[in-house]
Amino acid sequence: MSFSEIGLTSELAETVAKLGYDCPTPIQNTAIPLALQGKDILACAQTGTGKTAAFLLPTIEIIKHSRSRHRLPSAVILAPTRELATQVYDNFLSYTAGTNLKAISVVGGEIISIQERILKKGVDILIATPGRLIDLFERGKLILTNVKVVVIDEADRMLDMGFMPEVDKIFSFLPRLRQTLMFSATISPEIKRISQSYQILPCEIKISRSAKTAETIEQSVFYVEEMQKRVALRKVLRSHPSVEPTVIFCNKKKDVDILAKSLQRHGFSAQALHGDMDQRSRNETLENFRKGNYRILVTTDVAARGIDVSGITLVINFDVPVHEEDYVHRIGRTGRAGKNGVAIMFVTKGETKKLKRIESLIKQDIKEIQIDLNEIMEEEEPTEKVVGFGKIIPPFMLIDPLKFLAQRSLIKA
Ligand code: AMP
Repeated sequence: MSFSEIGLTSELAETVAKLGYDCPTPIQNTAIPLALQGKDILACAQTGTGKTAAFLLPTIEIIKHSRSRHRLPSAVILAPTRELATQVYDNFLSYTAGTNLKAISVVGGEIISIQERILKKGVDILIATPGRLIDLFERGKLILTNVKVVVIDEADRMLDMGFMPEVDKIFSFLPRLRQTLMFSATISPEIKRISQSYQILPCEIKISRSAKTAETIEQSVFYVEEMQKRVALRKVLRSHPSVEPTVIFCNKKKDVDILAKSLQRHGFSAQALHGDMDQRSRNETLENFRKGNYRILVTTDVAARGIDVSGITLVINFDVPVHEEDYVHRIGRTGRAGKNGVAIMFVTKGETKKLKRIESLIKQDIKEIQIDLNEIMEEEEPTEKVVGFGKIIPPFMLIDPLKFLAQRSLIKA
């Protein structure tokens, strides 16, 4: 199927072709025709599936003939975070290059008077985080009676970050006659309940992320007692080249903070990133990680979604993920763009069934490695100061991470 065959006008189909979109992804194949028919949609699709274009392209087609008037957007896209709103806005710009369509991204932390001025001139699509949209509405700078299409992007993350009361409030400002598209990486009973209150007979779509893992990622598991996980973690981290950006995944938000603090106490330059942090701290944490101001990011699946940091060479699954698809997502942070990466997962006795499910999903057995934990005591003196990447690195550390782990007898494959 081509983009024209699923209902896009030739102009838009040509624009996306120029961006290198040869054919629609599965979520686009299903969602675009339904959205163009005016249906409400509840879609289960994760980042990387092409979900943004799946809601943005039909939204552009639907609203493109309505005239943008001051303070009266025709479509509203709600995103849980500033980064996601910016990403959607950037996509909008590339899909509408050469047209008169206008969008604005209104997120907290930016000067509100500038946003007010742009709204006054007139925009077609408002892309917003919930808090700032409410601010502008309550100041009378925004009228929502003209809205035809509403999108909630990453609804599960919106829920996780505690934004649902704000989203409820926004929906009370919106016209009843509208089309509502909801996208979420997971569809929990709570998401279903939210869908029922905002949508009318939505078409449900489920697209799972590809289960294929990149060949550039060297995957391994280490069987460990729960109590010894932190010791094993420090051993792996000390053996990895100290400049290499590393991401550690935990299953629970509360463990993220505890683990990051424990690593800091042991001299590692580590920071926590989770959904309970306010937007500003999350942005700062991510920005600092991107810039290389610290080496290790400890996070959860939800908080890490959408993080696009290049050059991550090591991913550690401190816990086996609850959903097997998340394993593919987690380790996909490394081994990007043809570069090599290492992914190590700690597995306790109680988690072997989950490991089997992952292996059956990715259709391969993950090799077991041995980490000599007895050797650890003499190594416990911090070898790394919490100064980020600015320190001098011994030349022997500037080698391939796998070779390095092997040399230190960490990996006995
Ligand atoms: P998303 O899931 O929306 O975060 O999109 C993931 C990436 O896929 C983005 O870089 C998009 O530009 C890209 N993309 C979206 N749709 C297509 C397509 N049909 N063909 C190729 N790339 C696409």
